[in-house]
Amino acid sequence: MGTENAFAELGLAPDATDSEVKAAWRRLVSQWHPDRNDSSDAVAKMQRINQAFEEIRRAGSRVRTDDPATEGATPDEADANARGNDDAAHRHRRPIFRKVKLRLEEAAVGCIKVLRGKITNVCSTCAGAGHQVLGGNCAQCGGSGAMAKRSFFGWPSGYFECDACLGGGIARQPCPTCDGSGKMDARAYKIKVRIPHGVRHGDLLHVAGGRSRADSPPADLEIRVEVSDHAFFQLDADGTIRCEIPVDGFAWIANRSIQVPTVTGLHALQLDREQLSYRLKGQGFPVTRRGSRGDQVITLLPIFPDSLSTDQQILLDQLLATTSGDGRGSDARLRAWSRGLRAWERGMSGLGSTEA
Ligand SMILES: [Zn+2]
Ligand SMILES: [Zn+2]
Repeated sequence: MGTENAFAELGLAPDATDSEVKAAWRRLVSQWHPDRNDSSDAVAKMQRINQAFEEIRRAGSRVRTDDPATEGATPDEADANARGNDDAAHRHRRPIFRKVKLRLEEAAVGCIKVLRGKITNVCSTCAGAGHQVLGGNCAQCGGSGAMAKRSFFGWPSGYFECDACLGGGIARQPCPTCDGSGKMDARAYKIKVRIPHGVRHGDLLHVAGGRSRADSPPADLEIRVEVSDHAFFQLDADGTIRCEIPVDGFAWIANRSIQVPTVTGLHALQLDREQLSYRLKGQGFPVTRRGSRGDQVITLLPIFPDSLSTDQQILLDQLLATTSGDGRGSDARLRAWSRGLRAWERGMSGLGSTEA
């Protein structure tokens, strides 16, 4: 019986879940179990139901998942590396799928990651089932695959699957090769992967495995790059890195030099009180993989105190005294404005009293 026929026998679609399969089995068994159903084809029907159940279970157990653990990278729970690995001698194995999580800084300059993982092959003796079929009826359930639940008065009140044959009805024993686990040849691998500079979120890296060392991966690796969001860097498609930096408003006015972050570390930036936006040439992200770096654009957010301390107020008043009014040190533009304003005010006071 093929897997598809098996699902059809239980009245299920081929993508039915484990619990749907179990529920269908229970429903059919309570309908067809010879204890309950004395029609002549009940026994044959029970056998088909159990055969189908067995077939689906066996097909499901063939799929084993890898258990990767990565140094400096995040394990990928969704890996299903061992699919199709039954044949250990097979030369063109499916690649091993991995994810590697990088900080933006690592992606910008490149890095080396050590990937560790484990490939579990399916036991070749039992094809992953974990048991061997001995033939003949299961001694515990007499071949029905189902055990009756008994009520307090001894009436059958339902069925559960026999744990000796797991519902198959056929005598079996644990597979001696894999001790019933269905797996064998768990093989740990480790590989150093050089991540080139300029990789982006979602990029795929292909890494050849299975050649150099004893602990190399037994297949090539397909590595999907994930670049984490950064706390203050924002990456544009053209490699520009944008960053907003709060800065002491007085330091900005005073044209101080401040330290600003770049993907390679801190960088001195000379402030200019005429300017809020600064471009650091070549300090951005590589424009292409392994390419030269774009620019970093810094936008200042000057911060002034919400309220001034007495000392700060005194200092500001002193500063203002040097720049305001008609005194020396005041700007020619301000003096011109004051003159113009006074002239305008004189004109205003004459409004309404002059004859046209
Ligand atoms: Zn049994
Ligand atoms: Zn086995």
